[in-house]
Amino acid sequence: MFTALQKILFVALGVSLLGTPADKSQTPLPVKYIYLSFDDGPLNGSEHIDSVVLAERLKISVFLVGEHVEKSKRLGIYYKMYEQNPFVESYNHSLTHAENKYEAFYRNPEKVLTDIRLNEQLLGLRFKIVRLPGRNIWRIGTRKLDDGTSGASSADLLAENGYKLCGWDIEWQHNAATGAPVQPVDQMVKAIESRLESGKTFTKDHIVVLIHDEMFQKRWEESELKQLIEKLKQHENYLFEHLRFYPDK
Ligand SMILES: [Zn+2]
Repeated sequence: MFTALQKILFVALGVSLLGTPADKSQTPLPVKYIYLSFDDGPLNGSEHIDSVVLAERLKISVFLVGEHVEKSKRLGIYYKMYEQNPFVESYNHSLTHAENKYEAFYRNPEKVLTDIRLNEQLLGLRFKIVRLPGRNIWRIGTRKLDDGTSGASSADLLAENGYKLCGWDIEWQHNAATGAPVQPVDQMVKAIESRLESGKTFTKDHIVVLIHDEMFQKRWEESELKQLIEKLKQHENYLFEHLRFYPDK
């Protein structure tokens, strides 16, 4: 048994002599943050994302392309829908989307900076948060990650000018021709869960999911998004947040 001196020591150290560890079922699960981010809007499909997140009362981040807003009256209206939706926060995905000619675009970092600034002005964006078109590149605080293609020097220039660059950890892919989602909802939910469990994300316990606005043009696609959200919400320790709150360290 324990000596008197040992007992005093245990009490001082807060050690229970009864040896009853806390009931495991009462230990709260660690909080995991999910950032659903939608690229390339406004596009056909944005209106469905808008209504799903309003109904679900769920925070999402959208990376907007300024040129799309001016393309048609309808896309201008979708942009306004996002602006008025309290669950949607708008960030910068460039004015031109590099006209989808990425190599040429990233050859000129000054041009990239100008493009981002013009988009910021056109859309009146409140936060200096950027996702580079066609690139999974990160510049957050002192941390950086490149995707092995061109764009690193443009990213550095943007970071020097106060922009936070946000890539993604996992993508819900879409068919290039039709826009339809590729992975079924259950597969996507499992992939998100296992990536979070593995800790292999840019920041542990934080996962950035890349989705594209054009994936939700049809009713069944809209319901896929609803299902994904509802299934992820079943985890009481999953919290949905805007990318503005992504940790800098
Ligand atoms: Zn894009």
